[in-house]
Amino acid sequence: MRLILLGKPGCGKGTQAKVLSGRLELPAISTGDLIRAAIAQGSELGKKFDSFISHGHLVSDDLVIDLARQRLAEPDCAEGFMLDGFPRTVSQAEALTKMLEAIEHHLDAVVNIDVSDELLVERAEGRRTCRGCGASYHLKFAAPAQEGICDHCDAEELYRRDDDCAEVVLKRLVEYREKTHPLLEYYQPSGFLQHV
Ligand code: AMP
Ligand code: ZN
Repeated sequence: MRLILLGKPGCGKGTQAKVLSGRLELPAISTGDLIRAAIAQGSELGKKFDSFISHGHLVSDDLVIDLARQRLAEPDCAEGFMLDGFPRTVSQAEALTKMLEAIEHHLDAVVNIDVSDELLVERAEGRRTCRGCGASYHLKFAAPAQEGICDHCDAEELYRRDDDCAEVVLKRLVEYREKTHPLLEYYQPSGFLQHV
């Protein structure tokens, strides 16, 4: 099965991707996680990514498309995958369509998670991310069983992503409206689009 999760920043794509990937036994591919891993490594590419992400901007299409192409070519994606945060622009969606055509596969569903803007800022500000495994928590809505310790991997570092402060979240919402929202129209005719 090949799925895409779409939605505004902080709508819960990552959380749902992790739940669903367990249930459906599909790898959850998050370009945001791949980008943060490259930044943590301190590579030249990571530095480039950081200059986009810390300002709430989308990373340029060519860089993200390369990243997604490489990840989707790995063996665990051969039987299917769930994409969380990719595509985020119409050019990325077109590139994905071509990648799928090349392997003679198609999408099974595009799920749009719809959440009001007011909730997103509150969610982002309270979000904490595990340095060890990338799991997401929320101080108020989904706290770990033991304060400051990841339920999944026992790492003791739950940090706040730099791009989860209100100022950057609002910029990410502007980027979403301009560049990602048009994907709903791109996928509408396919008949795969579902709204939750
Ligand atoms: P996320 O973890 O999905 O919220 O992504 C965090 C940040 O990484 C985004 O705000 C973008 O700066 C960047 N990013 C992640 N995925 C993409 C993508 N498909 N295209 C462009 N930028 C991306
Ligand atoms: Zn963890």
